[in-house]
Amino acid sequence: MLEMSAGKYPHRTALVYPAKGQRWTYRDWDAQANRLAGALLKLGINKGDRVSVFLGNTGELVSTLFAAAKIGAVFNPINCNLSATELTFILNHAESRVLVFGADEQKRVDRARAKIRTVEHYIYVDDAPPEFALPYYQLTGVACDDRPAILVSENDWYSIIYTSGTTGKPKGVIHRHRDIVDHSMCMIECQKLTYRDRGLSIDPLYHAAELHCFFLPRVHVGAANIILKNFDPQLVWQVLQEEKITFMFADPAKCRAILQHAPADCRLPHLRVLANGGAPMPPALAARCREVFRSDIIHLYGMTEMGPVITVLYPEEQESKSGSVGKPLINHEIRVVRISDAFPSDPQDAVETGVRGEVVVRGVGMMQGYYNRPEMTAEALYGGWYHTGDIGSLDEDGYLWLSGRRDDVIFSGVDNIYPQEIEEVLLEHPDVLEAAVVGVEIADWETEIVAFIVSQNPSLAPGDIKNYLQQCDKLAGFKMPGEYVFIDKLPRVTTGKVQKRLLAKQFKRLCLANAQFQ
Ligand code: ATP
Ligand code: MG
Repeated sequence: MLEMSAGKYPHRTALVYPAKGQRWTYRDWDAQANRLAGALLKLGINKGDRVSVFLGNTGELVSTLFAAAKIGAVFNPINCNLSATELTFILNHAESRVLVFGADEQKRVDRARAKIRTVEHYIYVDDAPPEFALPYYQLTGVACDDRPAILVSENDWYSIIYTSGTTGKPKGVIHRHRDIVDHSMCMIECQKLTYRDRGLSIDPLYHAAELHCFFLPRVHVGAANIILKNFDPQLVWQVLQEEKITFMFADPAKCRAILQHAPADCRLPHLRVLANGGAPMPPALAARCREVFRSDIIHLYGMTEMGPVITVLYPEEQESKSGSVGKPLINHEIRVVRISDAFPSDPQDAVETGVRGEVVVRGVGMMQGYYNRPEMTAEALYGGWYHTGDIGSLDEDGYLWLSGRRDDVIFSGVDNIYPQEIEEVLLEHPDVLEAAVVGVEIADWETEIVAFIVSQNPSLAPGDIKNYLQQCDKLAGFKMPGEYVFIDKLPRVTTGKVQKRLLAKQFKRLCLANAQFQ
């Protein structure tokens, strides 16, 4: 992708990285990636070896991606917010040979080093590297801009990206070059992307969402990429205007933060599309985005395993199908199938329109499997379809409506309870900013429905919410939460997803503390 665009548009702006004052053309960037590729070869890195980066949104992260791809090494971006223990788990599991990191990550890398088993070369991207690391800019300072003479085929592995770890230990998702190039084609079509676009990356590039849905497709068509290292809503507004951004993706939590800092006269004449997804988008928030940004809005649903996008809700569908995640991306298929107690669900056993079941999917971006997890892979890809673990239903027009994760469903004596349904009603209360509902097992066979609420009104009490739920009459009695907990902020993973397991644990701890107190 990078070489094609460097050949076609050598002088077009490719990468703008304000944190280091970089403004590279496609030719500059390709030369930089070639130099790094040459340096990796000199260090003895071979085709198939894993090259990890532990960095936020930086020029070095994406240059390492292309350098690794050029020599057939496997790119492994790691969430730069992880702890030393989590970093160690991923590096050892991926059996990585190289780790690229910077000043912000140095302390954690240092702490992890004694337990990291396979990394032979540490590469440091900032000034004054620690004694155990090689300086990135010295390695790439060698005057050799030629492409390395390594043959890389479409079936070679391009990446291992670990999932968010919302439901357990992260899994290493394998994609070949072909999978991601094909997925990129779908995303180019879905965004109507051209070389004239200018995209802003504020979501993390170490996750598949920003990297594969937006960043790589832009490189594919020769568009400009502007990347911000730290998320700062005020800076986002400034860059949107100054860089004449045409396209931006922000998960729902970031959308909310950006809206809170909207300047009084926010005019963005260049912004063509605001994309969001990765977590449920409350309809009221989507409506506010349309009002403030005055651009088209698209909503995406997917997961690392699928490259990641599966479904899209297009701008013209935003109002009529508000709350749905849309229809399949081109070259993708979805089915909603009956959930059997015997895992995994049978992909041939589709349920009827309007009935809830597990969402299964297949399409060009589907993973090859989980690295070194053959049993998990067999279950996840059972019958040739990826089993998302998400619950949803299709309406009569073929739109998909999600009800949450299979693991989060609360089993009551009466019927299954889908937390998302309760959250949606809670979010309609004018004082409720965020809501997360979890089922907490408080005794054998006894599950309490607990609603965690972030409110903008400090005097809002559990009784007020209870009354509100009873009066609005949208939830059956057995779906009413038994407990309400007010908190300042919901714990989220960096892709914006609420960590429900953590909330359940917190509630159990709270109960225990209260019991001791009494
Ligand atoms: P892990 O698999 O390690 O538990 P994860 O599933 O959170 O982590 P990701 O691949 O980053 O890791 O996230 C995919 C999940 O995010 C989906 O399975 C789905 O539950 C949720 N998700 C993604 N997009 C949306 C969306 N638009 N609306 C609602 N939920 C979404
Ligand atoms: Mg998952």
